[in-house]
Amino acid sequence: MDTTEAVAAADPASPPAVRDVDIYATPTGALPVYHGWQAPKGLARRQLRERRLRPGGQDPVAVIECRGGKRKAWLYEIERAKPIRPMTFAKELALDKAMAARQTCPKCSRRYYHCLPLRTLGSCLECYDGTPAAPGSYMRPPGEHLAAAA
Ligand SMILES: [Zn+2]
Repeated sequence: MDTTEAVAAADPASPPAVRDVDIYATPTGALPVYHGWQAPKGLARRQLRERRLRPGGQDPVAVIECRGGKRKAWLYEIERAKPIRPMTFAKELALDKAMAARQTCPKCSRRYYHCLPLRTLGSCLECYDGTPAAPGSYMRPPGEHLAAAA
């Protein structure tokens, strides 16, 4: 167990509730850093997503370090998190339209399951240099147009 100041703040008896006063401010002004699973209860990163929550504009209150400091993540207060917005039909349609633009070859109008190198090659590989496309890699035969891509 580490005996740094950050761990002292991890005491579950002092949950992060005060907002105006930065109780986490260290003399250097940095956010407290926790290692591995020592993060205090009430703070979360990935767990927010699991609970279908989002940070909702709040600033991170701490940093968690994994793999010996190689990976860092912000920690947020679960209390102040907001529920994630459900995907609406319009959103889904807009997303599909955006994906269709990146996955549809302008030459053969096949829509692939992966994004095409449109910026560099300008088309699918088959149209570019004749490399045959795997039959399972696209969803529409040539010539058939997708409503969302129109
Ligand atoms: Zn093509």
